[in-house]
Amino acid sequence: MKPITTESHEHDPPADAGWDYSPAPERTPVPIDESYGLFIDGSMRAPLSRKRFETINPATEDVLSSIADAGAKDVDAAVQAAKKAQGPWARLKASERAKYLYRIARRIQERSRELAVLETMDGGKPIKESRDVDLPLTAQHFFYHAGWADKLAYAFPGRTPKPIGVCGQIIPWNFPLMMAAWKLAPALACGNTCVLKPAETTSLTALKLAEILQEVDLPPGVVNIVTGAGATGAALAEHPDVRKVAFTGSTEVGKVLARSVAGTSKKLTLELGGKSPNIIFADAAIDQAVEGVVSSIWFNQGHVCCAGSRLFVEESVVDEVVDKLRHRMQSLRVGDPLDKNTDIGAINSAEQLKTIERYVDAGEHEGAIMHEFSGQALPDKGYWHRPCFFTGVQPSHVIAREEIFGPVLSVMTFRTPEEAISRANNTPYGLAAGVWTNTGSKVFEIARKLDAGVVWCNTYNTFDAASPFGGFKESGFGREGGRHGLQSYVKF
Ligand code: ADP
Repeated sequence: MKPITTESHEHDPPADAGWDYSPAPERTPVPIDESYGLFIDGSMRAPLSRKRFETINPATEDVLSSIADAGAKDVDAAVQAAKKAQGPWARLKASERAKYLYRIARRIQERSRELAVLETMDGGKPIKESRDVDLPLTAQHFFYHAGWADKLAYAFPGRTPKPIGVCGQIIPWNFPLMMAAWKLAPALACGNTCVLKPAETTSLTALKLAEILQEVDLPPGVVNIVTGAGATGAALAEHPDVRKVAFTGSTEVGKVLARSVAGTSKKLTLELGGKSPNIIFADAAIDQAVEGVVSSIWFNQGHVCCAGSRLFVEESVVDEVVDKLRHRMQSLRVGDPLDKNTDIGAINSAEQLKTIERYVDAGEHEGAIMHEFSGQALPDKGYWHRPCFFTGVQPSHVIAREEIFGPVLSVMTFRTPEEAISRANNTPYGLAAGVWTNTGSKVFEIARKLDAGVVWCNTYNTFDAASPFGGFKESGFGREGGRHGLQSYVKF
């Protein structure tokens, strides 16, 4: 082979050729069918309702596929399939059930690039998030719960856990595949069967999961997937043969579901909204804390129910934090979610974009000061929102009280730890919180007093299948993940 010398210019591109890189693996097209049916009793079926809707790519507004809109009869067929499959599935040797979960996890890993790309195309989140967060955690949940399937007696010492029956599981659009895993894996490990309803804007990865369930030969009816919107979810939750309803989504719909199962013997778990506080003390490593704030609210467009949307900063360092935040915000990259360098992708839907814009207007109208990203121009098509933060925010302002679900942060200050705690807890929600300090004892003191299901210390948005996740107050009840999460899927 001819050596390349530094003097030689024969390998340089011609001056006008431009540099064409090979396409990044994430840009490889993913096979998407023109239309999808419902996954019932082990196979894909056309919907009895004969209704359909389109799912689009929120970054381009291109139609990706036609999705079945399941009606009450379709939901009934799915529940009946799950009911029929439940006895045999529960009687299967637990170690055999575990093998199915392992196989699902392995297949998710094998197809993770395709699934990550699809998640990004259908939902708008940056590929680095779906590739590095959603997919690994999805596989991890199946692996983790495969481990529990034959060890349930150890999870509940001295008691005999039994499956509940058919579980109706309704999930949102912010972590579509991961939420499916959070719901399905513990339910299956405990011997239940499932009917899963993905959110209407993000059905595609759940339908790919159906393919995986077929590939691993999961017995028909053990998992059924019905697509549709609110009416499909309501039909599922109200079905008399559903023994447990598991829901992740808005507090508003959570309340509707709580009313719909009231007076029945159905079990219910709700993982609802949040307005999570992120508290920075003056003794914290400020650069690290600012980076934590960036990932807690701006990455993933703020589409995280536990987003740290209220930032409380100790008064003596607020100027430094705000300066660094402003500087860091300008270096974010907003745009094509399939680009590996993108930090902030597309907003999931036109409706969600309108909601975010309404809150930003309300913030300005109420007198808070907006600091806005002024980097690259946003693409012409698709749904986009620039990251921004507000200072001069009062606790009474709408932007400090209500969940926005967008890249919008409210910055407030405090003087003492007591004030930080009381201001952080001054919300109807209680999903998550963050504390940034170099003092270990302060971490434990504050974490104990915060009304939040999860408190992250010197980090934020860190998840693990072994660690239970769930809320207090209007953020819901029940836990997902860990030993506590199993409790929602057994009876004694
Ligand atoms: P978000 O605000 O995150 O979109 P929603 O609570 O509206 O959350 O939706 C979460 C999930 O709940 C979606 O799958 C949606 O289709 C479903 N859903 C919406 N309304 C109802 C309802 N009345 N009953 C059951 N499920 C519903």
